[in-house]
Amino acid sequence: MRRFQSYIDGAFSDGEARFESLDPATGEAWAEMPEAREADVDRAVRAADRALLEGEWARLTASARGKLLGRLADLVAENVQTLAELETRDTGKIIRETSAQIAYVADYYRYYAGLADKIEGAVLPIDKPDMEVWTRREPVGVVAAIVPWNSQLFLAAVKIGPALAAGCTLVVKASEDGPAPLLGFARLVHEAGFPAGVVNIVTGFGPSCGTALTRHPLVAHVAFTGGPGTARHIVRNSAENLASTSLELGGKSPFIVFADADLESAANAQVAAIFAATGQSCVAGSRLLVERSAKDRLLEILKTKAEGVAIGAPLDRATEVGPLCTRRQRDHIQALVDRTTQAGARLVTGGQTPEGPGWFYPPTIIDCDGTASPALAEEFFGPVLSVVSFETEAEAVRLANDTNYGLASGVFTTSLTRAHRMIRAIRAGVVWVNTYRAVSPIAPFGGFKLSGHGREGGLAAALDYTRTKTVWLRTSDDPIPDPFVMR
Ligand code: NAD
Repeated sequence: MRRFQSYIDGAFSDGEARFESLDPATGEAWAEMPEAREADVDRAVRAADRALLEGEWARLTASARGKLLGRLADLVAENVQTLAELETRDTGKIIRETSAQIAYVADYYRYYAGLADKIEGAVLPIDKPDMEVWTRREPVGVVAAIVPWNSQLFLAAVKIGPALAAGCTLVVKASEDGPAPLLGFARLVHEAGFPAGVVNIVTGFGPSCGTALTRHPLVAHVAFTGGPGTARHIVRNSAENLASTSLELGGKSPFIVFADADLESAANAQVAAIFAATGQSCVAGSRLLVERSAKDRLLEILKTKAEGVAIGAPLDRATEVGPLCTRRQRDHIQALVDRTTQAGARLVTGGQTPEGPGWFYPPTIIDCDGTASPALAEEFFGPVLSVVSFETEAEAVRLANDTNYGLASGVFTTSLTRAHRMIRAIRAGVVWVNTYRAVSPIAPFGGFKLSGHGREGGLAAALDYTRTKTVWLRTSDDPIPDPFVMR
């Protein structure tokens, strides 16, 4: 069995306890992970706080911080294959995707490397004589970055990159499900030469590790990606330390196809939207809303594509759909599919847990027309597409917004005017038009409603890791006048 370690205060250590990680393709234990509880978390946060206030990192120029981030980007690019294999082995995400995504993670670090010395304050045209007033953008403080199991290196990069660019220090908590990629990445942080305590990486369970981290008095900001239920715990915990939060949560994103769209192209995008990453994607386009006249044709194309998907070992480059990360997740999906069909929805394809080892689940399509199906409201976080048809554009908008979530959306139409109307009407943080599942370090990303708040990506994300200090400097040598009057 492989053994992984925590990375705290610039050193690798075994955790307070250890737990086994299972290979989702076989269900067998393959690695031992260090479990951080309150004491390890406290050590990591204190190390981050020391690094923030004293020592080398605190004195580093913004350009030097950028250079370190650039070095980290290079190391990620040089180690794509090793990191991808760790992620695939520990989470079941297919090697085709982990390799491509981690190569792009390097670009995220590069983007924030370039931003580090472009975070500026301002000189204010103040309305008082003999006074110079300016603002400084200072690091917000120690950041707790918490990620779920899917895309851990990516979801960590969109927090670590801007936080370091802004001069913060971090404690990153990898998910207890599949932490290997982030624990492996810690070696690269070390090699890049960040001073001890600037980036600490631990893993552990929500109630012990996560709670200790998010309520720690020295944590100033919690950057969280995960489910809304956990987000509520985090917000409650922040009542203790009054940390600010950014929350990237779940979704039930509409994928809207009008009859004038290129159905073949829309079907390919829909496959990417719901079956890629075995559906374990926050932006999964899990509700297909299709104009009634195009429904039968589109479902026929989608059924053929879903049934033709190559399901198999995630380390095999030919595989298109691998296992789910955990057995718990697969059981949740099966239970929700069963409740949906019991509510009267019709299975178009899939819907049955296969025999054999590993947490596999087939691409599944459910026709929910005419039913009040739970599948239309609840997040599967798996390869299950729920389909509903509409007659008019107004009905499409109503259905699209009929959700507690608001993360992403897709619109497929060849009408330019309709596309613009839909962009305005949809209540979600991302609208993709005639495309889906595209991301970039340059573009902000985040949700409306129960999908959370705060944005990752882009310049604004780095500014969110700063706080403003206002400086007043009096330029007069005259004595201070009447001390009982505020000026
Ligand atoms: P989760 O909320 O159960 O866990 C996420 C992380 O939170 C894990 O590291 C977990 O250990 C930690 N955690 C659990 N309880 C905690 C507590 N009380 N205090 C602090 N931390 C705690 O999420 P999951 O089930 O692992 O992941 C799936 C969810 O993540 C889905 O809802 C998905 O949509 C969402 N997600 C969102 C985005 C996005 O960018 N919006 C991206 C990926 C995943």
